[in-house]
Amino acid sequence: MTNRIPLIAANWKMNAPPVGWDGEDSPYSPRDGADVVVFPSHLDIHVCLEKFLTVGSQCGRPEAQGAFTGDISMALLAAHGCTWVLCGHSERRMHHSESDAFVALQASAAVAAGLHPIVCVGETADEREMGQAKDVVKRQVQAIEVPATFAYEPVWAIGTGVTASPDDAQEMHAFIRSLLPKAGRDSARIIYGGSVKPDNTKALMMQPDIDGALVGNASLDPASFRKIIEFSLPS
Ligand code: PEP
Repeated sequence: MTNRIPLIAANWKMNAPPVGWDGEDSPYSPRDGADVVVFPSHLDIHVCLEKFLTVGSQCGRPEAQGAFTGDISMALLAAHGCTWVLCGHSERRMHHSESDAFVALQASAAVAAGLHPIVCVGETADEREMGQAKDVVKRQVQAIEVPATFAYEPVWAIGTGVTASPDDAQEMHAFIRSLLPKAGRDSARIIYGGSVKPDNTKALMMQPDIDGALVGNASLDPASFRKIIEFSLPS
């Protein structure tokens, strides 16, 4: 970690906000020393905004409006108070066939709408086994044409309880950074996702190119999420 402020993101996926999310001293509230962002279901975006959380959407359609039943545009997300958006989460790439080209359009539309995109990249277990991890990640990163935050999320680590080792994660984060345009390279935040829990947070966050975490399961437990934030702050 350098002087980049840690970014800790809670991806609640298709779950209701966890019990206690809106209590006094909520771990999901903005705080000093870290940027904390929640990604609730679209139905819960407004209640989270009413409690003054920093809110992002789990996805967004690049087109500004039109005949896209069930979708929400980046422009609408921004108009309704979102400030962040996930682009190309592996579950969207898998279940909604989002391609690299589509994810690139999402990221560009997000920036045009004034949102901060977090572009998720990462290889599957098979791709890693075949020695293709860096090629896949390079292709996914180089598709993006606008300044973005990247989340390295090896697909085999998401929701599995298995985490990339701090060394392997650092190697990929440094590689991603090397692919970014020189101008924003040092300031860009590259966060890690994939079974982040309180007990593996510190070792990951000590790596020089890991600037935060995208947290799924553990973000549904306020006590765990609080610890993940605490363990991510520079000591
Ligand atoms: C995620 O969904 O982005 C994620 C990293 O999930 P988990 O923390 O459960 O692996």
